[in-house]
Amino acid sequence: MVTKSAISIKSLNKTYHGFKNSSPKNALIDINLEIPQGSFFGLLGPNGAGKSTLINILAGLTKKTSGKVIIDGIDVDEDARASKFAIGVVPQEVVLDPFFSVRETLDYYAGYYSVPQEKRRTQEIIDALHLSDKSGVNSRRLSGGMKRRVLIAKALVHSPKILVLDEPTAGVDVELRTQLWEYVRNLNKNGTTILLTTHYLEEAEELCDKIAIINHGKIIANENKKSLMGALDQKQLIIKFSDKIHTLPETLKKYAAEILDENSISISYRKSDDPIGKLIEIIKKEGLNITDLSTKEPDLEDVFKHLVNQKS
Ligand code: ADP
Ligand code: MG
Repeated sequence: MVTKSAISIKSLNKTYHGFKNSSPKNALIDINLEIPQGSFFGLLGPNGAGKSTLINILAGLTKKTSGKVIIDGIDVDEDARASKFAIGVVPQEVVLDPFFSVRETLDYYAGYYSVPQEKRRTQEIIDALHLSDKSGVNSRRLSGGMKRRVLIAKALVHSPKILVLDEPTAGVDVELRTQLWEYVRNLNKNGTTILLTTHYLEEAEELCDKIAIINHGKIIANENKKSLMGALDQKQLIIKFSDKIHTLPETLKKYAAEILDENSISISYRKSDDPIGKLIEIIKKEGLNITDLSTKEPDLEDVFKHLVNQKS
């Protein structure tokens, strides 16, 4: 069965032409991406990779230089309005009318999308995003976290089939993060396609079923999460000793261990193997005295290295 794409992007390019003296910036280079209907899709990449540029093109906020963008089967060049109605976009930058209350903001956008009164979900959305206490407050008087909630609420008023979130958890508190993910997961379960950008590897790993990685405006990986697991499963154990380590003990040689400096070693392992207990036992038997233990998750950089190695 061929699943229809919620979003289909073909040979998309974006060049920013800066002011007189700055050179043009190729922010997106020949992007091809299919986002399947019903998926929870993660677009992962470091700062400056081009994530927001891509999202803003989908939202109709930034003009593409060339290429094709099809949202819910609608070519944005043929019917910009209809394609806009199929998605809800939560931009990275907070843009709210400072003099509208939360409820007024949501009603205004429901009107913009021509949602008839009897179909409006204003109260439901206010409740879902825990905004009831603040529904009468003007946007300019809300805290950063509250503004972020309104921004998300605003993207939901027309019950879009596709919800696009541009780094919604950068700088928000843990409570909001947890509530937000619970809510978005639920939307996805009920059939909404989710496109999420993030520079947090763990976030993408936890939430998404498909992950594409963008770096310097190019897609460098696009796979099921499982295929990325090889890279995500790696972890490092760093052990410090009270005494100087000159050579690796024989018993550790079969592990991917190396000497970091005179007092510490690092051992790479697969999380799924869960070998820490065993390693510590081995080290104790060697008569070495441990003064500190820490572990390190792979970061984006490590994943990039892994992917590049895989390809070469
Ligand atoms: P990300 O969201 O992944 O951090 P962006 O899409 O915001 O990345 O930016 C991609 C690149 O394009 C960066 O190098 C950024 O400096 C540049 N850029 C973004 N917006 C503009 C703009 N309006 N004018 C010129 N350059 C821009
Ligand atoms: Mg961004």
